[in-house]
Amino acid sequence: KSHTIIGAGILGASTAYHLTKRGEKVTLIDRLDYGQATDAAAGIVCPWLTQRRNKAWYKLAKEGAKYYPTLIQELEEQGETNTGYSRVGAISLHTDEKKLEKMMERALKRREEAPEIGEITLLPPNETNKIFPVLSRDYSSVHVSGGARVNGRGVRNALVRAAVKNGATFIKGDAKLVFEETSVIGASVNGQVYESDQVIVTAGAWASKLLKPLNLNFEIKPQKAQIIHLLLNGVDTSNWPVVMPPNNQYILSFGEGRVVIGATHEDDQGFDNRITAGGVHEILDKALSVAPGLSNASIEEVRVGFRPVAPNFLPVFGTIPQYKGLIVANGLGASGLTTGPFLGSELAKLACYESTELNIDDYSIS
Ligand code: FAD
Repeated sequence: KSHTIIGAGILGASTAYHLTKRGEKVTLIDRLDYGQATDAAAGIVCPWLTQRRNKAWYKLAKEGAKYYPTLIQELEEQGETNTGYSRVGAISLHTDEKKLEKMMERALKRREEAPEIGEITLLPPNETNKIFPVLSRDYSSVHVSGGARVNGRGVRNALVRAAVKNGATFIKGDAKLVFEETSVIGASVNGQVYESDQVIVTAGAWASKLLKPLNLNFEIKPQKAQIIHLLLNGVDTSNWPVVMPPNNQYILSFGEGRVVIGATHEDDQGFDNRITAGGVHEILDKALSVAPGLSNASIEEVRVGFRPVAPNFLPVFGTIPQYKGLIVANGLGASGLTTGPFLGSELAKLACYESTELNIDDYSIS
């Protein structure tokens, strides 16, 4: 069968990769908007310590984290080694011992069904500081060895390149849906029509506009995120763990002194892609209060991305009952780097009429 995928962020790229692996014909279209969530994201893959209670979300995030090592190995076998993925471990910080004990309990309980969490250890302030030396000495932490970091841009590029190697066609441009009555039959870019048996819309925060001509009221909203890349010159940061402070921010590092801090959660800003004084101030203020050792780092880059957010912060995917030939997936929110690769493999199954591991009804679009 033939499939047209609109949107080549992590979700569309993964769907394309998994479809081409099955020998399906794939056309992948993206207009390379500035603000693609995947492109801005430097991400944490560590869903197990969260207090979020939504079962469907946790199931998806847990499966997403578990799937990464398999996928990364597969990509490496195809020469795609530049994903930034590494299981460097993660530490969740707190000054309140009781809160840390609760966190330990939660992690130990969750490990029964998710052994990929790895070792769980309570670290006192001196040991916490030892593995992430720029931190304030005020914090103890829970360390989980299975926590990982990944570079959104890197893993997306790897997936797109692997899909193209497997035969996918990548087209840069602004796609519109082509439909006849209640059947979606393809997409058009600059007047050129690409017909296919199925169209898969993975258009992130921009999807509502794309689906409007079908009279579908798709309630995905953009949530603006600013994120800062710092450089600690001459410091080997390659094995530093991911840090989750008690606030809603995170700190993670890649090799060669690069430390990423962020990110903001800005609702109701539309697609305003400016770097703002308030955004940068909030990130620096929160990060430096936790990690004062970063104050002399140089600021290398600030990125802006738009997280696609669904009404209940729960990702949605599936077919659309009113239209034949259309599959839609969206709403990956703040955890899309974690869930995107796995959800893409699920979308490929759905598109090939195979049964999915997730129960589709739990992520219903309607
Ligand atoms: P996107 O990556 O936004 O891709 C959608 C694509 O569709 C875009 O490229 C757009 O150009 C294209 N498109 C839309 N309409 C059209 C059209 N008509 N024609 C052609 N192309 C079109 N997640 C984690 O798990 N851990 C993290 O630590 C983390 N940190 C983050 C930090 C930041 C700063 C941001 C912004 C996000 C972070 N996320 C994180 C969330 C994650 O990045 C997103 O949930 C995920 O990338 C969403 O992927 P997507 O493919 O659905 O959308």
